[in-house]
Formats: sequence, C-alpha cells, structure tokens
Amino acid sequence: MASNSSQPADLDASKVIVTLATELKPVPSLADLASGGMSQAMTDHMVLASYDPVNGWSAPEIKPYGPFTLMPASSCFQYATNAFEGMKAYVGPDGEPRLFRPEKNMARLARSAGRVALPPFNPDELLKLIKQLVTIDKRWVPAAKGHSLYIRPMIIGTRSTLNLSISDSALLWVMCTPCGPYFRSVRPLSLFAATDAVRAWPGGTGEHKIATNYGPTLKHHQSAQAAGHDMNLWLLGDKITEAGVMNFFIVLRRDDGDLDVLTPPLDGTILPGITRASILSMATAHPSRMVLPGLSEETRLHSAERALTMPELEAWLVEGRVVEVFAVGTAVVVSPIGCIAWGEKNIVFPTFGNALGPVSKALRERILDIQEGRFEWEGWSVPC
Ligand code: PMP
Repeated sequence: MASNSSQPADLDASKVIVTLATELKPVPSLADLASGGMSQAMTDHMVLASYDPVNGWSAPEIKPYGPFTLMPASSCFQYATNAFEGMKAYVGPDGEPRLFRPEKNMARLARSAGRVALPPFNPDELLKLIKQLVTIDKRWVPAAKGHSLYIRPMIIGTRSTLNLSISDSALLWVMCTPCGPYFRSVRPLSLFAATDAVRAWPGGTGEHKIATNYGPTLKHHQSAQAAGHDMNLWLLGDKITEAGVMNFFIVLRRDDGDLDVLTPPLDGTILPGITRASILSMATAHPSRMVLPGLSEETRLHSAERALTMPELEAWLVEGRVVEVFAVGTAVVVSPIGCIAWGEKNIVFPTFGNALGPVSKALRERILDIQEGRFEWEGWSVPC
C-alpha cells in the first residue's frame, strides 16, 4: 500500500485488518498445561505486518495463525536478523486479560531490533495490536494462579540477498501460546556453570533479545541436562551473568541483621529482565512503601546491583551469610537455586525443602498478585 507522504509509513494499529478464524481450535485444559511450561498449541490468531523501504509498514493484520512463505535468501536465514520478546497475559479478577509492564517489552524489542539494524516501528502501536490480539483470543488465557498466555512478538529481516547488508524489508508478527507453571512444582534448580563457553562478553550483544544469543547456548544446555542439571549458569571469567534465560539473585545476611538482595549489574552482558527490574523495586519498597506477603516489617531489604563472583559465593557460604539464591524471568517468575556445579566443585546453597526461601517466596507471591491483578502497584498491570 502506497503511503501518502514521501516518508515510509509507520506501524499504525488503526489500520488493522481483522480476519477471524472460521474454525476455532480446542483450547488446552489446565490438566494439559500442568505438565509444565508452554503448550505447543498456538492460539487461533496472530498479528502480522510487513515492512518495505518504499511503503514502510503495511496495514497490520490480525488473522488466523498459520504459515507464511519466505525467500530462501532472506536475511533472517543468512545473517540472523531476528529479534523477539517474551511477555504474558494473565486473567484478572474481573475475568479480563491483563499484561505486565508491556511497554518495557515493546521498548526492549525496539532496542533489540535496532541492534541488528532492522527497521524501526512504533512500539505504542505494536502494543495496541497485541492488546487487540489477546482480547480476540482471550478464551486461551488460562484462568488459574500461575497460568498465563505467553506472547511472542518477533521481527525478522526479509531482504532477499546473499550480500551482508542491512535488511531494509522485514516481517513482524505476534503469536501466543497458553502456559502453566514453568516447572511442574517448585523445587531448587541445579545449575551447571559452563567453563568452556560464555553466553555474552563486553561489547557483545548479551543485553539484547536476539536469536544469536540463544542458538549457541543450546549445545551446553543439552550437555547440562544430560548430566542431570536443569540449565547452565553463564559466567564471564568467575563473574556470574545469568542463570539459563533468567536473571540471578542472592540474598545475604548483613552484620546488622538486615538482608542484601543482590543481582549483577546491567553491564551489557546481561539481558535487562523486566522481572529483574520489578523484583529489585519491590525489594526496595519493602517495608516502607509496601509490605511483602509473609515478611515481617522488621525484615529490612537492601537491593543492589553489584558484580557477583563464584569465589565470593563460596566465601559467603563459609561465613554462613547466604540466606537463599534464586532466579527470575517471565517464564519461570521466581525459582529457587539449590546448587551450582562449577568445575570440580558442587556449591550447595541453603534450601527450604521444595519451597522457595522467605524472601523469594514473598517476592513471587507479590509479583503474581500484581501480574494477576489482585494487587495494584504503580500501574504495572495493564488491562487489554
Ligand atoms: N535473561 C535472558 C537471557 C532471557 O532470555 C530472559 C527472558 N526474557 C531473562 C533473562 C528474563 O527477562 P524477563 O524478566 O524480561 O523475562
């Protein structure tokens, strides 16, 4: 479609063309979702829009979920021009779907896409389209605590050439799949610290959600699982960066009896997780601005971003200062970490049976309450 001005058109949700599916698919039951994580079923519809250098963004479509064709020479296949997001919709107490801090996912997608020189898009317009998609497919949002609809917006380069060049054409889409709690039950994770590979490095792309950060981790993930661990701990030298696709946290008892809630700083090697940012600010808010469920007002939390190294972890364990270690992310929410295999060593943290420790439990309860609309906090939960 030709644009009116000489400028390529921006993404515009008001131009959406909606084509509803004539046959709706069966929605997985809560029992189907109980096996853990995401189902393989995509919802009935998806958002789709394309970009070309002359016209800019096409009128977006909401249409039945299904395949599309791409040229084999497309930039995304050759040079991994591919950025994506992971976010969730939850059923609120009013039965309506809600999103959690979705503007942060939109901003991160725009940044990630920019990192692989994909064309810019208006993040507010994409969010409007996502809200409309979730509203249309709302029967797919599971209405049970800890359940949600996982939403995957993606943008890929479609320029058809084998030259290493900027992809000036692109495809953007959004697909959704229902999911239950990531792990069948809460239990402390066993991590395997990769010592022969890094996920990210200074000046690299670790802070972006682009495909090239993920594919190369799979071989190590496979080996970690084959050795009986849940996932890798990613290090840079002896510095902790991330736990699988989650951000890493440790709670330490201070000399004055207060608790430090620490996570590595965003130095470019770590994905700026939205759960991470939320956990940090909830910990800061306790107890003066909000009391976390199950934690006494006498428990003072001091959250901070600071480099964490493996030798420090060992020393803190010897000193008896480690209260608990956990990982956070959209998929898992908050999960305890029980041990890290690091070279010849197995570093074992305090655990609480198969439950979370006191601080992570309080943070998990509160973030679920906010995400599922039972507790209003700073406008984080947004109705569709
Ligand atoms: N680290 C990595 C590498 C991830 O892929 C994710 C998931 N997006 C996270 C951390 C957690 O980020 P978020 O809380 O935004 O899901």
